[in-house]
Amino acid sequence: MDKKQTILITGGAGFIGSHLVLHMASHYAHYHIVNLDALTYAADVSLLDAVSGFDNYTFVQGDIRDRNFIQELFDTYGFDHVIHLAAESHVDNSIVNPAVFAETNVLGTLNLLEAVKTQWEGTMAEHRFYHISTDEVFGSLGDRGFFSETTPYDPRSPYSASKASSDHFVRAYYHTYQLPVLISNCSNNYGPHQHKEKLIPLFIKNIIEGKNLPIYGAGTNIRDWLYVKDHVQAMDAIFHRGTPGETYAIGGNNELRNIDLVRLLIQYTDDLLGNPKGTSESLITYVTDRKGHDFRYAIDATKLKDKLQWEPKANFEEALKETIVWYLGKYKS
Ligand code: NAD
Repeated sequence: MDKKQTILITGGAGFIGSHLVLHMASHYAHYHIVNLDALTYAADVSLLDAVSGFDNYTFVQGDIRDRNFIQELFDTYGFDHVIHLAAESHVDNSIVNPAVFAETNVLGTLNLLEAVKTQWEGTMAEHRFYHISTDEVFGSLGDRGFFSETTPYDPRSPYSASKASSDHFVRAYYHTYQLPVLISNCSNNYGPHQHKEKLIPLFIKNIIEGKNLPIYGAGTNIRDWLYVKDHVQAMDAIFHRGTPGETYAIGGNNELRNIDLVRLLIQYTDDLLGNPKGTSESLITYVTDRKGHDFRYAIDATKLKDKLQWEPKANFEEALKETIVWYLGKYKS
């Protein structure tokens, strides 16, 4: 029998990574999924309880910044493929402490690239190094236009600068060492499992607790919201059927102004809590805008549709309500 393919997924105890690990471990019995996560404040390993007893799943706590540890991990497992999500991911934190974003997002990625470069020498075509990135590397859009795979990089926050830098290293390893890399740049995700520092979980928690809902600036910044389970389907398609050296832009075809998203959150959450309509509207509080706040992100995902037949499937209203129900279960005592 063929040896089981061993896949390293980094950052699998975080928001998107946990959904990907659950999907991969439960759909592909012939893979051995090794989830490497440092368990920072953003992680929650209990999100993976459903697969923790599976034979094809192993959790390893460790830090991608530690090059010796990464080398030992590769020596131990001989990974066939890597799907790399581990990152510092919160823009506000990157404004306060940029250094850790360079250390984890740039140097951590470099450590993984170095490890695979050595390990896969002579057998590159059999492997995949799939790097998960963000549309924030492209900067900020005005009222019109979309980001796509060919949009020039223009990162504006320490977070997006660190992700852009890691993308460049990944691409450089493709051109220089023929490493079989795949990159995807994705828009804002929503769904269960996200840390409460991010807008949607924070606002649901605050609505439950009757606390203020702090909105940056006038709330007119626009994001293209993608349901995390649609993102998982896109990652599955790219990992299995993507072409090495290629980049794929992933979006939700779902642009919303922050204030409109917040109004929907209020409406659905009040409704699910049994509050009279409009109860939590008074919690909206406008605060000084984020430094360098990008105005609009929007993705043209035509390439993914044409080449890999992927499209976002979620109905936004249903998926947002499902998301709110999950957070109500978590935060409502
Ligand atoms: P997250 O912050 O929820 O999870 C990140 C995970 O990485 C955590 O479990 C954390 O413990 C782990 N981690 C952090 N530093 C580490 C280190 N040094 N070593 C090992 N593990 C470490 O992030 P997320 O929202 O799930 O994002 C996952 C990836 O997707 C990131 O690369 C991010 O840039 C990208 N992305 C996210 C979004 C989004 O909307 N959340 C959109 C596009 C791209």
